[in-house]
Amino acid sequence: MFLSAGVAFEANVEALNLVETTGNYSRHRKIPYIWRDQETKEFRVIYVPAISGESLAHAYQELLVEEATRIYGGEEKVPVCPDCKTGEFFKSMNKAHLRGKFEGDPSKTSPDNIEKEIIKKCLVEDIGGFLYAEKPPIKRSSSFQFSYAVPVKTTALLSTVEPQLHARHARMIEVKKKSQKEDESTEGEVQNKERKAEEQMLYYVEAGTAIYGFVFNLDLEAIGKSSYDGKPVINDEEIKKRKNVAISAFARLVSSRQFGAKLSRFFPAGDIVSLYVAVTSSPFSVTSPIYETAALTTAKRLNVISNIFKEEVRFYLYESLRSVEDLKKFGFVKISETPEEAILHLLEGEKK
Ligand SMILES: [Zn+2]
Repeated sequence: MFLSAGVAFEANVEALNLVETTGNYSRHRKIPYIWRDQETKEFRVIYVPAISGESLAHAYQELLVEEATRIYGGEEKVPVCPDCKTGEFFKSMNKAHLRGKFEGDPSKTSPDNIEKEIIKKCLVEDIGGFLYAEKPPIKRSSSFQFSYAVPVKTTALLSTVEPQLHARHARMIEVKKKSQKEDESTEGEVQNKERKAEEQMLYYVEAGTAIYGFVFNLDLEAIGKSSYDGKPVINDEEIKKRKNVAISAFARLVSSRQFGAKLSRFFPAGDIVSLYVAVTSSPFSVTSPIYETAALTTAKRLNVISNIFKEEVRFYLYESLRSVEDLKKFGFVKISETPEEAILHLLEGEKK
């Protein structure tokens, strides 16, 4: 089973992905982006705010741990290694981080044996892959993929990044107390005034505003299986549980919007505007939500796939920006009134 989702969300004044801080100035990530002028039909490259796939993947993996804890019924029952439990996704990158998952000398056994032990011990590394960069090198590809979140085409030109000025102030009351203690000479007052100015800290944070879209793919068939021979490493019941964890973590990501940085003071003003999820037997990627008619195009493509390959397809949709009338003709499309309802239908559909 393969799951592919397109998500579009409006975010005003967000600082979800800052890339560097120079002095008191924090920059938002920006990327080159192809844009077509509707009048001249010429293509141009413009620079727009974006949120990296790494940033989304980090949040997703943290939610894998949370959802696993809920589904397995407690932290002590969860097959997750101590690093991943604390949100430090070193994965089994070297001997030090392999400890506790594989006992013995890694150089004296085959890579597939080591992979099997890691899969058993840590579901984050099972689902999210890892790279052991010592001898023998072992690579397990992630069963999920995230695109960058980039502005949708129709509003790309409207997307902006603007530095917002913030200030941390010295507490006025302290300055007054000091004035009373010291001689009330003119010199003393000047010094205190200077001190007050020094204790102000000005800083700038580049805040982005855009309607972003990203794609999430999840290969449910890869979970719990060796990447060397494709055979299951854990039992069916355990695999089923882990698939449930992987889907639930995506549901939480969308519903909670707990991804990206600076959420404590720059929680984006906006909401999910569009969400659609395709479920197919073989790998399939939805059309990116950066396109105006992405959901409709995806449904048309799925229709062809189901006709050619006689494959059962499912499509769950929530859409707030445009009409969904054209999508009602497809028997496999299930339309919802909220993103959560679409996710609920997805979870119910996949439990069957
Ligand atoms: Zn781990």
